[in-house]
Amino acid sequence: MLELPEVDVAIAGGGPVGCALALALSGSPVSVARIASETDVADRPIALSHGSRLILERLGAWDSIQNTPIETIHVSQRGFGRAVMRCEEYGLPALGYVTAYSELVARLAAQAPAVAEALEDSETGGEELALRLSRDEEEVHMRARLLVLADGGTLRPAEHVTDYDQRAIVAEVKAERPRRGVAWERFTAEGPLALLPYGDRYALVWSVRPPTAENLLGLSDPEFLARLREAFGGRLGDFRSVGPRSVFPLSMRRNAIDPAPRTLAIGNAAQTLHPVAGQGLNLGLRDAWELAQMLLDVGKEEIGAPRFLARYVRRRRFDRHAGIGFTDFLVRIFSNSLPPLAAARGAGLALLDALPPARRFLARRMIFGARALP
Ligand SMILES: Cc1cc2nc3c(=O)[nH]c(=O)nc-3n(C[C@H](O)[C@H](O)[C@H](O)COP(=O)(O)OP(=O)(O)OC[C@H]3O[C@@H](n4cnc5c(N)ncnc54)[C@H](O)[C@@H]3O)c2cc1C
Repeated sequence: MLELPEVDVAIAGGGPVGCALALALSGSPVSVARIASETDVADRPIALSHGSRLILERLGAWDSIQNTPIETIHVSQRGFGRAVMRCEEYGLPALGYVTAYSELVARLAAQAPAVAEALEDSETGGEELALRLSRDEEEVHMRARLLVLADGGTLRPAEHVTDYDQRAIVAEVKAERPRRGVAWERFTAEGPLALLPYGDRYALVWSVRPPTAENLLGLSDPEFLARLREAFGGRLGDFRSVGPRSVFPLSMRRNAIDPAPRTLAIGNAAQTLHPVAGQGLNLGLRDAWELAQMLLDVGKEEIGAPRFLARYVRRRRFDRHAGIGFTDFLVRIFSNSLPPLAAARGAGLALLDALPPARRFLARRMIFGARALP
């Protein structure tokens, strides 16, 4: 059995949120160890807000990340109602950016290497925690003042689960008449359909009921592309090709942020959102950034103490609840085919389109969260 040197903060998780926290603390007086396996990183496109770009810039990681800017977001529903948001209205170079999840993780992880592959267990003992880890199938032990769970939610069952009875079909598609820099969000009777600009392709995230998802996965490429055209409409012409299709169950999962003594959860380990508004990672990066600022601000003896945990919970409460509430509202309101609701939604979108202050409020929330970065 191997004993690793004691650290102030141990971070369990190989995703972007855990990596971002490790990077924010690297080179500081706060000692850090990241626990993650670098082998099973999914390869899928992901949209980051302009606020997330600012965080990644501060971490020195942004310049090396290839991305496709989103300059305009076009929101519509079948029938009537649409709203358009443009980056010029907010004085920003882009509203968001689409990048590859695997590349983002690789860039962040390269600057904060892991010391072990997986967290197996943790136990409190006074001023610190005793952690049991695994590395090359060997048991490794380590002590830390604070354990941060950034494992995406695999280490403990979620306390609150809202099952939306939807699946996301994710794939890359090419369109006949692509529109540079425009992201499309189309609300259909079964759920939202997003097409995000991604190089010369689109990243498709199509939320549908589980039987439809099974059916869509079983179609030939031309049949799938024809169904996509039917659901999305003709704004981009015909869809020309589709890459491998994968499927994700969609639910909202919430967990306590301070689940045990000297332990905090961030990113998807704290809240897993429906991808409808593309907010999950953005919220997670804000979790990591704010926790890092707090850690850099306190004396070592405070790290992991009950007062520190309580302060972090308070500091993240508003942004977290706003992100969860906003996403849940969108899924419920826009995944319903009742005619009166469809009419109200259409009117809501038209109103949003006609009211710049309302659009500005919504855009700020989506870009910076409920509490803007200073
Ligand atoms: C279809 C889909 C589309 C999405 N699109 C967007 C989008 O456009 N924009 C956006 O902001 N969000 C989006 N999201 C959400 C986004 O992917 C997540 O919010 C984000 O990946 C969370 O990052 P994380 O680091 O918290 O967790 P994860 O990305 O889940 O990473 C957790 C990591 O921890 C590792 N791990 C697990 N157990 C252990 C252990 N015991 N020890 C050590 N490590 C462990 C896992 O292997 C994994 O690598 C989308 C989600 C889905 C499903």
